[in-house]
Amino acid sequence: MEITDLEVIPLSWSLPEGEGMGDSRGFGRTRATSLVRLETDDGTVGWGEAFAPGSVVEATVDELFRDRVLGMDPFDVESLADRSYTDPYHFGGSVFVQSALSGIDVACWDVIGKTVGRPVHRLLGGEECHTLTPYASTMYFTAEEQPIAEPIERAVAEGFTAAKIKIGSGFEADVERVRTARKLLGEDAALMVDMNGNYRPRQAIKTARAIEEYDVAWIEEPVPPENESGYREVKNRIDTPIAAGEAHYGRFAFKRLVDDRLVDVVQPNLGRCGGLSEARLIADMATTENVAVRPHVWNSAVGVAAAVQFAASVSPYPHTRNVPEPMMLEFDRSENPLRSEILETPFDPTGGTLDVPQEPGLGISVDESAVERYRDD
Ligand SMILES: [Mg+2]
Repeated sequence: MEITDLEVIPLSWSLPEGEGMGDSRGFGRTRATSLVRLETDDGTVGWGEAFAPGSVVEATVDELFRDRVLGMDPFDVESLADRSYTDPYHFGGSVFVQSALSGIDVACWDVIGKTVGRPVHRLLGGEECHTLTPYASTMYFTAEEQPIAEPIERAVAEGFTAAKIKIGSGFEADVERVRTARKLLGEDAALMVDMNGNYRPRQAIKTARAIEEYDVAWIEEPVPPENESGYREVKNRIDTPIAAGEAHYGRFAFKRLVDDRLVDVVQPNLGRCGGLSEARLIADMATTENVAVRPHVWNSAVGVAAAVQFAASVSPYPHTRNVPEPMMLEFDRSENPLRSEILETPFDPTGGTLDVPQEPGLGISVDESAVERYRDD
């Protein structure tokens, strides 16, 4: 079997003028990403997502990957991750190399699954898994101030039992947002907060201590992703678990997070961490050291599908089965047709569970006419 076609499909979509939304660092209107479509000599099509703008993914694929992927057997997928660090070795862990690799790698796994008739989570060694627990990623900062309660009320009405909210814009606002979310979600729901690396350690610690009474499951990116000493400082001085990974790329960056005990939860994004091959290595490193794995997902529906299959494959071992922790999967609740419109059957996270597709490969059917609507090249 060999790969005969490799296409990068840039996608983008923008909110109307004045309706920017985002995090403590600022607002944006445009969602841009890239799909990777592979085809093999027997006509099998595989899909992946490189979670980066199309122009850089196209250039990176052309420069580093196209020649080696065309003619390759997709079953040799794991050799691509190794070679991303060696050929040439200067670019290995960079975000755009790992993003381009992610798209190709996930598309290869989709082809492999379709060829052997198994969903990807079983190929990665996971037990049979039918559902995950989705958490609503919500309460974004908005360009025009909106009532903070409304998105949480909506998540509760939709049946979510877990949610992650944006904080990090100042101490008073942090406490008010967390207090509001906890009140509306109820005592039993899991509540996570995301500072998007907008604080110095001292600021993050002050907020972390003040929101401890609201039983926060994790604080995401309290300080900038590069600030390893800052992570160490925060982690040593608060009791709430810390999570990071959406701005870490490749196995070596995650190894530092795990080895140096900088976080309690690693969050690889399947469109940026290097793909399923690299994510499996990351999960093996993390679970070996009893660090939790919860993928970051802010992708198109193809990236969501990759994250679902990956999350379904991760073993809870060695965490004790007497204190069960559900495998939670981030589900962005902001408007984004790249997530909600490009599959024949979109994922439905409402009602408290998310079905894991059992069909071969990623288990999705991409609606190519919908993809064309958002194509941006
Ligand atoms: Mg985040």
